[in-house]
Amino acid sequence: MTNRQAAIDIVRRLQREGHQALLAGGCVRDMLLGRRPKDYDVATDARPEVVTAIFPRTLEVGAKFGVVIVLDRKTQVEVATFRSETGYGDGRHPDEVTFTTAAADASRRDFTINGMFYDPVAEQVLDYVAGQVDLERRILRTIGDPQERFGEDYLRMLRAVRFATELDFPIEGETFAAIGKNAERITRISGERIAGELETMLTHPNRRAAAGMLFDSGLARAIFPDLPAAQREGAVEVLGRLRKRVDFPLALAAFFTGCDPESVETQCCLLKPSRNQTRHLAFLLTHRRRLLDHEMSLASLKKLLAQPYFWDLYELERASQKAFGEKEALTALARLRRRVHELRGVDVKPKPLLNGHDLIRLGAAPGPQVGQLAEELYIAQLEGDLHTKTQAEQWAQDWLTRHHTAD
Ligand code: ATP
Ligand code: MG
Repeated sequence: MTNRQAAIDIVRRLQREGHQALLAGGCVRDMLLGRRPKDYDVATDARPEVVTAIFPRTLEVGAKFGVVIVLDRKTQVEVATFRSETGYGDGRHPDEVTFTTAAADASRRDFTINGMFYDPVAEQVLDYVAGQVDLERRILRTIGDPQERFGEDYLRMLRAVRFATELDFPIEGETFAAIGKNAERITRISGERIAGELETMLTHPNRRAAAGMLFDSGLARAIFPDLPAAQREGAVEVLGRLRKRVDFPLALAAFFTGCDPESVETQCCLLKPSRNQTRHLAFLLTHRRRLLDHEMSLASLKKLLAQPYFWDLYELERASQKAFGEKEALTALARLRRRVHELRGVDVKPKPLLNGHDLIRLGAAPGPQVGQLAEELYIAQLEGDLHTKTQAEQWAQDWLTRHHTAD
């Protein structure tokens, strides 16, 4: 059973029990737009304890706020009691919720296009917030006074940019102006939640628009205080030229095109990236422009190719060169691509022909000398100068002789 079917069944059941029950929020918006909703949420006038009594398997994760998860065999549906929220002393969480009517529940939601209900039994849209008009005009607008609404929950500012990006809607003027006024307060929201929204918008194919809005609203500067204002053009242009599907670190590296790697890493700490994301981003930042080096040795190329993020580095370089129209750099990249092509089928990370024990047996002093010899030997192997263990031994012996003489 799909989440959609399960949600509709829940609505029917609640209605049979005499309650008002509707599909709510994002799924209604997406259905009206002809997009496939991510999931279907139910809103009802039944209190959480009534919902849990009706359905055999439920999770009361947010019962205090009126939210119950109804479990079906394979899927789960969020069933929320109509509520209004008050307080928001901290700009993040409501201090209190009170159970209320559908109309009042609509008005606590963030944007008009997210504030509608749909009754799948009567096949009727219930729109208390003029969401349909805005959907038709393709515009993102807060429900009520934007200044007030963003003041209640600063995350809504990033949600605005995220929805505008995903739907390719502009943000209505007053709504956008209010984001500008409150942008600095975005850091009162946790780094993880900021990162979640940024990741969604910057990995979306419409990420170019997202970057423009982040800069123009002041959110980019508020989140990354050391970001130079002049960064806008580079970020927008490079992001706009990346391939359709990208991981967050690649998008971030494009966003920070041309910035000092250390400062980028420091600024991105706020986003609490995972260890892999950090490594991925650091790789892209530190190896920038290396692919344009005509003189790159075969060994260096193989070492880069052996890295898991090589093709992201290539993609970042390709997008930047395209953005800035540097013909020479594009030629350099084309040459690099040919070199990589020629290496098809070649093991770019072969096992070293000799290990540390072998080298010590040949007379290398344990410690730094073995390390240095092993590294140089491996480079010679990657360069294609050595193919067999015997050749490697000969090479190592010559190296040791040279180094003994030098001592
Ligand atoms: P998506 O398709 O990305 O899931 P969505 O509209 O379903 O988008 P959710 O974050 O799943 O967004 O939230 C569901 C609904 O809850 C929203 O459509 C909106 O009505 C309401 N909502 C969610 N977050 C907020 C918020 N921070 N402030 C006000 N209303 C919110
Ligand atoms: Mg949703």
